[in-house]
Amino acid sequence: MSVYSQTQNEQDRLLALHSYQILDTLPEEEYNDLTELAAGICGTPIALISLVDKERQWFKSNYGLGVAETDRAYSFCAHAILDPKELMEIEDATQDERFSDNPLVTGHPDIAFYAGVPLVNQEGFALGSLCVIDSVAKKLTDQQKKALRIIARQVMDKMELRRNVRLLKAADEENKQLLSASLLSDARGRSLINQAPVAIVLFRGIDLNIEAANPQMLELLGKTTDIVGKSLLDAIPELAGQEAYQLLCKVFTTGETIRGYGNQVTLIRNGQQETGYYDFSYSPLIEDGQITGVIDMAVDVTDQVKARNDLERLNKQFNLAVSAARLGIWHINPLSKNLQYNDMLARIFGYESSLPMTYEQAIGQVTEEFRPIILADIERSIREGLDYDITYQQKRFNDNEIIWLRSLGRVTQDEKGELDNFSGIVMDITEAKKDDQRKNDFIAMVSHELKTPLTSLSGFLQVLEAKAKKGEDRLSQTILEKGRKQVSKMTTMINGFLNVSRLEAGKIHIDKHRFDMKDLVKEIEEETIPANTTHHIIFEPVLTTWVEGDRDKIGQVITNLISNALKYSAPDTTIRIACVAEEGCARVSVNDEGMGIAEKDLEKLFDRYYRVEGNNTAGISGFGIGLYLCSEIIQRHHGRIWVKSIPQKGSTFFFSIPVFKP
Ligand code: ADP
Repeated sequence: MSVYSQTQNEQDRLLALHSYQILDTLPEEEYNDLTELAAGICGTPIALISLVDKERQWFKSNYGLGVAETDRAYSFCAHAILDPKELMEIEDATQDERFSDNPLVTGHPDIAFYAGVPLVNQEGFALGSLCVIDSVAKKLTDQQKKALRIIARQVMDKMELRRNVRLLKAADEENKQLLSASLLSDARGRSLINQAPVAIVLFRGIDLNIEAANPQMLELLGKTTDIVGKSLLDAIPELAGQEAYQLLCKVFTTGETIRGYGNQVTLIRNGQQETGYYDFSYSPLIEDGQITGVIDMAVDVTDQVKARNDLERLNKQFNLAVSAARLGIWHINPLSKNLQYNDMLARIFGYESSLPMTYEQAIGQVTEEFRPIILADIERSIREGLDYDITYQQKRFNDNEIIWLRSLGRVTQDEKGELDNFSGIVMDITEAKKDDQRKNDFIAMVSHELKTPLTSLSGFLQVLEAKAKKGEDRLSQTILEKGRKQVSKMTTMINGFLNVSRLEAGKIHIDKHRFDMKDLVKEIEEETIPANTTHHIIFEPVLTTWVEGDRDKIGQVITNLISNALKYSAPDTTIRIACVAEEGCARVSVNDEGMGIAEKDLEKLFDRYYRVEGNNTAGISGFGIGLYLCSEIIQRHHGRIWVKSIPQKGSTFFFSIPVFKP
């Protein structure tokens, strides 16, 4: 045995050689043509395709040599393949000590000249060689060597091609065997199919006869094993005319594989007509190159599709409602301030550019008066997660018209609790504001008209009162005094209305000056204490606190809060007024021990015309404009007004305005 067969590499080489299944096959013209060509080009009588087996060299083609194989021990080719990259040329074997005593040299075919190119396969194994042999010594030209190499490559290509075709065929055969075996006969295969996560059915023949269907498919179709053996339309007649049936027929006729996602199919399932949605794959079953059936695999995705449809419907309804309500929708990224919005918002804003509107552009349209307020509110809502609700004015993009808007929003958090989006709606309330304006104008006019006769009435009453005093008519005196008080009450109310209408018409002017809260509170104390006969009013000491604002208006706010405290608490209870500097603000508080305010009313207390309804407040007159005026005045000072209250225990109203910073 030769040394070659001992190594691992040699074993692998032999395995590779055998994988071509070429040894001992019949001669083939294709290969013979190539050896003849080689001999012709090189001018030799012999050319061989020699494959080096374990103990022999076997010739796939042996041009000019009558033997099919020789012993490997005497093989020239076995030498040639030792260096797979090189062409081996022996010009005169009789003079070469490796071959001079070789029987093929000393005897038939009397080899003197030998040139061989190794046949190297894809994996790099030299399987044999293409060689040319002569009985006379000679030398190949470079041209001839080149030609020999080219022909050797041709030989190898042919061998590779054959092997690939054979492997593919085998794999295909194996697959088919596996498929039909598993679907139909093989028990293990059947159980695999039965446990498959998808529903599978195998149709055969032009009628699409049901040859096998797993339980999942029976469940999906809502049928029993009775359908096996029947044609598709006998078994599932409701499929006639449906897309699924047409596609199955198409696969059978064209042989193409068709896949679908969420396709609608109507089935009579367990006696009931049901429409479902399915992902499926219809692939042809091909045997001996013929389409013999169709394999249908399907997954019921009805729930997912319905959920998706529901969501889409909901979304549509939502969008419809939103556009019917003429609501603009906005989303602001809390960090990047990137703005997203719907069409309605663009329409409300009069934004007509094809480029997206930026946050800065939107803010730029807000009037000077409201811009700082809106920016501060947005920042506060984002920072503190507070609800955002602001009514403001801005200029429309397309016609510069000033419009009134109300915007409401809130920051949402993602699953990790991080700030996700600041989103909300905006609506155009210009018309409502105009309506309000008309109402206000009317109230202002009526109030004004009422004031004149009321002033006269008050004068007349005073004259009569003085007369009654003189005549010592006690009864008339008391009645007239009461009458005058009522008139004065009415005047206050009418003044309140006038204030509201003035405020809303923008006619209440905030005249800001620097002043000390200590002095203002002192002044109010001096007015309040002597007029009070019912309560214990305590003014806490106040330190010097400079603010910048409208002194009269801030005074009005404090007086208003005190008169409410008097109005909504029982006689003999205590009212405390304090003013402290806190966090850069002057904070005023008015505390009473009165009826308090229920939680549900707190939020609306500062709304215009809002009054708490109930037994407690029955008989206490008012129009619900006092606190509204207070809050408007405080807002115009960039301050804050709020209340803390416990029903039946009492309330504390607070407001704060920034201290003056020189
Ligand atoms: P009015 O007093 O004219 O009704 P306001 O705007 O001053 O209007 O007050 C609105 C409502 O707030 C009142 O109707 C009352 O129910 C409630 N309210 C105001 N101040 C107090 C208070 N100190 N204690 C309890 N309720 C109060």
